[in-house]
Amino acid sequence: MIPITQVRLAAGTEESVLAVMRSGHLAQGSVVADFEERFADLVGSRHAVAVSNGTIALVAAIQALGLGPGDEVITSPFTFVATLNAILASGATARFADIAELDFNLDASAAEAAINPKTSALLPVHLFGLCADLPAFSALSERRCLALVEDAAQAHGASVDSLRAGSVGTGCFSFYATKNLTTGEGGMVTTSDSALADRLRLIRNQGMRTRYEYEVAGNNYRLTDIQAAVGLPQLATYADLVKQRNENAARLTDGLAGIPGLLTPSVPTGREHVWHQYTVRVTADARIDRDDLSVRLAAAGVTTGIYYPRLVFDYDCYAEHPGIVVEDVSTARRVSAEVLSLPVHPGLTDQDIDTIITATRSAFES
Ligand SMILES: *Cc1c(COP(=O)(O)O)cnc(C)c1O
Repeated sequence: MIPITQVRLAAGTEESVLAVMRSGHLAQGSVVADFEERFADLVGSRHAVAVSNGTIALVAAIQALGLGPGDEVITSPFTFVATLNAILASGATARFADIAELDFNLDASAAEAAINPKTSALLPVHLFGLCADLPAFSALSERRCLALVEDAAQAHGASVDSLRAGSVGTGCFSFYATKNLTTGEGGMVTTSDSALADRLRLIRNQGMRTRYEYEVAGNNYRLTDIQAAVGLPQLATYADLVKQRNENAARLTDGLAGIPGLLTPSVPTGREHVWHQYTVRVTADARIDRDDLSVRLAAAGVTTGIYYPRLVFDYDCYAEHPGIVVEDVSTARRVSAEVLSLPVHPGLTDQDIDTIITATRSAFES
């Protein structure tokens, strides 16, 4: 089977991890500091604060911005559940506005229409490695004096014009095993606001700047040097991996052109996609539906993924939740029934890509 994702560690990872193990310093230390510095360069932010995972990156960002009960955060219904759980953990309310058909991301005009006196923050998600309309969100957050949090868990290195994911608002990244960059588990918060970075560092470490001097009520959100030693060597070759993902995506888009009812992903002008996922849509005009395509591809040896089969709040555990408000999200509802992600990762061979294309074409013809 061709996998939907494949963990690829950089050359030198074993040496880098062994060096930490032999140093006797396993917890957060100088390797985390190096990783933060290099990651801030990738993002183009002044600061990067490493945390234990991507969910905690969101939790810490929301906490450091002072959001809580009485605040509303406008976000996308078409996302991984961590986005929602992080908002709810703070006691704030999540208000869901619709996505744009063009990029699967929170639509800036829909978000603007959802703003009300309780709104404190906008939280677009850069889904699949493609940035939301960052220039629009940047302008909107300034004009309406709202905090901007970017869920960039899938978008390391993505950009729109000169704006890079995580450099405009408070950026939240994940290094989970399936993400473009990985430490197994891990996360990062990026910001160019020095006071905010300072607060994040305090919260991450039990509110301590100096040992046993608590300045705020904090927590333990730390990453370890062992994890940072896995991530650090990947930064040196990350641009090559993104290039490979782009080439794979271009070949898929070429090979899948012209199938009635199959929409290949579009990249709006000015955006640099990092292709965390290559997500097609099977529309109502197609001869088969999304689930048929997935079954037929599996039979041909191609693993696919449905990200995401339901809108994030559409589960019994969130029904009637007082912290959830849903606007018109009809585009997101339709899209979630149509999406299917095909393998695009750098581990694919030319032959794998041919197999994906041939199997997809024959699924629509049979
Ligand atoms: C992976 C992911 C997260 C959470 O990251 P973890 O490291 O798994 O906690 C948050 N948001 C999105 C969109 C993600 O894909």
